[in-house]
Amino acid sequence: GVFEPTDINQLIKEYVNLAFHGMRASKSPINVKIEFDLSEDIGLIPLKQEDFSRVILNLCNNAFDAMRENNNISQGGNREPVLKISTRKKDNIVIIAVEDNGQGISEDIKDKILQPFFTTKKGTQGTGLGLSISSDIVSAHQGTINIESKEGFFTKFIIKIPVS
Ligand code: ADP
Ligand code: MG
Repeated sequence: GVFEPTDINQLIKEYVNLAFHGMRASKSPINVKIEFDLSEDIGLIPLKQEDFSRVILNLCNNAFDAMRENNNISQGGNREPVLKISTRKKDNIVIIAVEDNGQGISEDIKDKILQPFFTTKKGTQGTGLGLSISSDIVSAHQGTINIESKEGFFTKFIIKIPVS
């Protein structure tokens, strides 16, 4: 892909909605409240749009899976699934955060989930490639991915991309 000046908020809205509608039309839809908190101060940033849109889709699909799973086992009580997506710009770094209140990630696998083919999903449900590809795409933007999570409560992916 090539870098193009991109309204990242617009791209995020488009692909979160695409992931949402895909999930709703799937065999196991769940009710999810989606909350956008997008900064108005970002402007256009250089982005490989096609690649970056896959990162958004992967993160959303993982979040939906985690919230579906959490609903099944009702860890931490029966909460309404909520997906929060935020953008910020601070000191020439754009920060994109995607947070779900699904099953969370246990400490023992936290270090492995970005590795290719690592999956906890049964059968053919998971390839284990989504996060590894996403990590490569973020790296191609000189960015980083951080993960915060509490098992049974939430998971937050934080992507930081330097822009000048
Ligand atoms: P896949 O979705 O095919 O399993 P990914 O690379 O997208 O592969 O994710 C790898 C693993 O990371 C998942 O199987 C899951 O265990 C964990 N994971 C990813 N995102 C989340 C999330 N939002 N909440 C809980 N676990 C997650
Ligand atoms: Mg995935």
